Amino acid sequence: MRLSRYFLPTLRDNPKEAEIVSHRYMLRAGMIQQNAAGIYSWLPMGFKVLKKIEQIVREEQDRSGAQEILMPTIQPADLWRESGRYDDYGKEMLRIQDRAERDMLFGPTNEEMVTDIFRSHVKSYKDLPKNLYHIQWKFRDEVRPRFGVMRGREFLMKDAYSFDLTEEDAKIAYQKMFLAYLRTYKRMGLKAIPMRAETGPIGGDMSHEFIILAETGESEVFADKKWENVDLEAAGLSYEDLNGLNEYFEEKTSIYAATDEQHDPGAIAEDQLMTARGIEVGHIFNFGTKYSKPMGATVQNKDGDVVPVEMGSYGIGVSRLVGGIIEASHDGDGIIWPEEVAPFDIGLINLKAGDQACDGACEKLYADLSAQGKDVLYDDRDARAGEKFANMDLIGLPWQVTIGPKGVANGMAEVKNRKTGEKHEISIESAMEKLAA
Ligand code: ATP
Ligand code: MG
Repeated sequence: MRLSRYFLPTLRDNPKEAEIVSHRYMLRAGMIQQNAAGIYSWLPMGFKVLKKIEQIVREEQDRSGAQEILMPTIQPADLWRESGRYDDYGKEMLRIQDRAERDMLFGPTNEEMVTDIFRSHVKSYKDLPKNLYHIQWKFRDEVRPRFGVMRGREFLMKDAYSFDLTEEDAKIAYQKMFLAYLRTYKRMGLKAIPMRAETGPIGGDMSHEFIILAETGESEVFADKKWENVDLEAAGLSYEDLNGLNEYFEEKTSIYAATDEQHDPGAIAEDQLMTARGIEVGHIFNFGTKYSKPMGATVQNKDGDVVPVEMGSYGIGVSRLVGGIIEASHDGDGIIWPEEVAPFDIGLINLKAGDQACDGACEKLYADLSAQGKDVLYDDRDARAGEKFANMDLIGLPWQVTIGPKGVANGMAEVKNRKTGEKHEISIESAMEKLAA
């Protein structure tokens, strides 16, 4: 992509309304635009990152055996009357009426709707287990939308729902999601700690929140200092290996970590305890028959008895993760994107646009890197060097390669790693080799 043609409305100054770094950088880097409190448009670069995060989430859900569907954003209120949540949910639910004055709502979550889909089709234990998920916009009329996409009113969530015959099977479904979540966050360069959590309005008896530590986090959390060195990698572990899965789950959940509602000061020695702030990027629940019972989502078991299915639900804040990753990975100059979610792989800076040698070398490098499958943002604008460097640092692409009039005469380019700040003056051919790898 040529920067001269790209819609990237960057801001030089810090917007006053942005209280935390991710919100500041997302606005300054031209990733989002607010349209109303807690409601945002995603501009090209922000949208690209959002899609990359969504894709990682999707791949890891698929890998765990969950199946993607797409449910609507608008739901009939009657479904929520069946579960009893229509009255319980309160003001966070955006209630609307259609032209026939039927009560509708903009979905804040989808337990009722997915239970309705399930009960319409599945009647026998032989069709279990099932796990259905979708990645869809949600609306919650939050009292205090703030921090940009971190606490929006409209936000993108992945929500999965598991259906099993027995409590034991439901626990396996839970453990599979637990592993899928840790793999998902790891691929994004994040360390998310699973913490025992309250089940809240969703209900149920087993629940974990996945929390990334950051000073600007909204939750106060308590964790064993051991977490600093816990390796969440479970590279060879298969979703079919139920013993391995159980061992992994027991091992990770035995290391103390709790949100403030769940913290038990007696449970851990003071000198082993780390108190921190965190951002909730996912939340999983096992809630048994809370919805299947009132909504009549039942199956016939082996003995011919009709029983309600055991369910769980599993959320990931896809749009919140964009901000969460920035909170976890930035410096004073801007964003530092982990490679897997970076909007482009490489930023190519032409220090003297209009100069024949610079243009020629840049065009060639741009074409060659693109041919190698690299996604390059080429700053071909006629602008000052300082502005170009600052802009590239703000956007935070993993690699920068700069070609200027002095170097190009000797066939040289400068390659910079955004994360480490390391810069090397190398030949354009070696730059090509290094960056195409
Ligand atoms: P929170 O405690 O932050 O209000 P929640 O417990 O209400 O979140 P869940 O119902 O567990 O949220 O939703 C699943 C995930 O969706 C959360 O872990 C979070 O990452 C994300 N999420 C929830 N509310 C918002 C919001 N207002 N804006 C952006 N993401 C959100
Ligand atoms: Mg929660």
